[in-house]
Amino acid sequence: MARIVMKFGGTSVADLDRIKNVARHVKREVDAGHEVAVVVSAMSGKTNELVGWVQNIPKVAGANHSIYDAREYDAVVASGEQVTSGLLAIALQAMGINARSWQGWQIPIRTDNAHGAARILDIDGGEMVRRMKEGQVAVVAGFQGLGPDNRVSTLGRGGSDTSAVAIAAAVKADRCDIYTDVDGVYTTDPRIEPKARRLKKIAFEEMLEMASLGAKVLQVRSVELAMVFKVRTFVRSSFEDPDAPGMGDLLNPPGTLICDEEEIVEQEVVTGIAYAKDEAQISLRRLDDRPGVSAAIFGPLAESHINVDMIVQNISEDGSKTDMTFTVPSGDAEKALRVLGENKEKIGYDVVQSESGLVKVSVIGIGMRSHAGVAATAFRALAEKGINIKAITTSEIKISILIDGPYAELAVRTLHSCYGLDKS
Ligand code: ASP
Ligand code: MG
Repeated sequence: MARIVMKFGGTSVADLDRIKNVARHVKREVDAGHEVAVVVSAMSGKTNELVGWVQNIPKVAGANHSIYDAREYDAVVASGEQVTSGLLAIALQAMGINARSWQGWQIPIRTDNAHGAARILDIDGGEMVRRMKEGQVAVVAGFQGLGPDNRVSTLGRGGSDTSAVAIAAAVKADRCDIYTDVDGVYTTDPRIEPKARRLKKIAFEEMLEMASLGAKVLQVRSVELAMVFKVRTFVRSSFEDPDAPGMGDLLNPPGTLICDEEEIVEQEVVTGIAYAKDEAQISLRRLDDRPGVSAAIFGPLAESHINVDMIVQNISEDGSKTDMTFTVPSGDAEKALRVLGENKEKIGYDVVQSESGLVKVSVIGIGMRSHAGVAATAFRALAEKGINIKAITTSEIKISILIDGPYAELAVRTLHSCYGLDKS
């Protein structure tokens, strides 16, 4: 007997038939004698629709801007999950299962005051657990919580993953199953490389890198939480037959387990290849090489909420001038250039150059910590395909390479095969 949190994303609850199918997945675990909490997203497309309404109403009402009260944004967009939690509870009841819905404020899931992008501070799972022990399934509306102002808050787009992992941590669940429209985490994007393989296991740290780099299976924050609280998290498909053999396997259900690296016995050097599109590169030429230049550049960019990613600084030849190159999302490039222009005197550079439409491909693997030559293999493979490298950054478990946009798919496939990820 175990305690399990099951989370279903938007496509898994997209309509009444899909919700009924979700209820069958839940029934399987209940029939096996487990204590179950379910976390649901809004029906797919619903949150986008709600966000659109919030953005448009100020103008429709006569304002000449589209600025709105973030607390009311949350009041509106949290409603999608309220609907699906109630519907699933009813579907479960119709199958003879004792179930009830829980809104974030009823548990409560306490968050900070950052409406629209709130962070969970505390979950009091006491009452929920008491009822789960009595055999009642808790159906929790994901994505939402209760702010210090006692108003509904939401956790940022994709936040129901984070709700699920946080609840799993709070109720000390044995497992958190994230049911989605893919059947696991792959070595790379299968739409680019059909030979991509589903991973049996991936370490929290690796998954964190994959998610930050645009593998959109999970909200990044949920992976951080899973890592901190060591929540064994499975990514699996809700589209498989709920009663197919093996679906109820407690230790090895079909899907990818995100877990502590100690649990991964056969460690590969490289686990996956990720990519992030629409990067822009900005270079400041002939900067004064003195203490404080980096602060003068990145301080104002941070204040303008521009997310700087790769940063490369050259060693100056004579100790007086140097170059600094960094990347930002293409959408922020114009704003970044404006900020740099406004601060030209203070920073003290000669010219600024920029280029948009670049792609960052990354090689990820905890095995890199103990293996030499991983980067050299990537550089050689890309060179053989004539792909030019514009910038490189590395961490203990990741090599990121910036290249021209049109080479993205070739680079991903090249890196995927040079580490043997397509054979296994
Ligand atoms: N419904 C919310 C969204 O679309 C939360 C989620 O699905 O995770 O962002
Ligand atoms: Mg999602």
